[in-house]
Amino acid sequence: MTYVIALPCVDVKDRACVDECPVDCIYEGNRMLYIQPDECVDCGACEPVCPVEAIFYEDDTPDQWADYYNANVDFFDDLGAPGGAAKMGVIDKDHPLIEALPTQPNPSPDTHVRFRANGPAAPYTAVMSISDTHVRARPSGHPGRADLPGLLSIGGLAKLTRVSPRSLRYYEEQGLLVARRTEAGHRRYESEAVDRVLLVQRLFAAGLSSADIRPVLPGMIDDAHCTEDLVTELREHRDRLQQEVERQLDTIDILDEVIEEHSAHAG
Ligand code: SF4
Ligand code: SF4
Repeated sequence: MTYVIALPCVDVKDRACVDECPVDCIYEGNRMLYIQPDECVDCGACEPVCPVEAIFYEDDTPDQWADYYNANVDFFDDLGAPGGAAKMGVIDKDHPLIEALPTQPNPSPDTHVRFRANGPAAPYTAVMSISDTHVRARPSGHPGRADLPGLLSIGGLAKLTRVSPRSLRYYEEQGLLVARRTEAGHRRYESEAVDRVLLVQRLFAAGLSSADIRPVLPGMIDDAHCTEDLVTELREHRDRLQQEVERQLDTIDILDEVIEEHSAHAG
């Protein structure tokens, strides 16, 4: 799985994403940037900084831009995995899909300003348009990036919790984490998601499965949902773990006996 750059980047190319990518895998063509799928480490850092919401997690790419997955992949057919975009500079080509496009009515990169928010709640980079020409000039069908302001992107949540975007998407699949979606389809999280993810991790570390965690999570997050049943379920889980540990200790005892017998023969 990888991230994909789609149509809104064409003729914008402000390179905000390049500054964020920890592995330098976003390469510049003549009219658009392209993510090298084998080099992308799926960190999600580039997605929230794009001023025109051109970057999507592969599975979240809107249907009308589905071809951009192949455009990103095919761009590297003759380049392979160069191992860093900086040394390549501007690569003098584009994918045929992009070459065939008329000039896009996107704003000049000068109409955007980037800033890095500080403080524990928002140690991520945000991008804002400083001109409403951005909104007017957006390609038709593109929803813009003003919805759900102030929420965490998946990359931001991953950074705060040190849980990979891949795991965060798995938590969501398992019903352990809820993401809101921007109009463009990007995941956004309330700040409470940080505590929730840390708690889920702790419960996984305590040996609970997703199925174990799902019913007890609401009561652990919100005292109002904390019932005697929750405590009982956790105690039962502890008892099962205790039984498992005792069973393993018995197994070790038997193995020790066998080792001793064979050591005597071997000696
Ligand atoms: S997801 Fe991370 S590694 Fe992949 S292109 Fe974006 S910033 Fe680079
Ligand atoms: S931040 Fe968005 S518009 Fe800017 S270069 Fe990257 S993908 Fe293109």
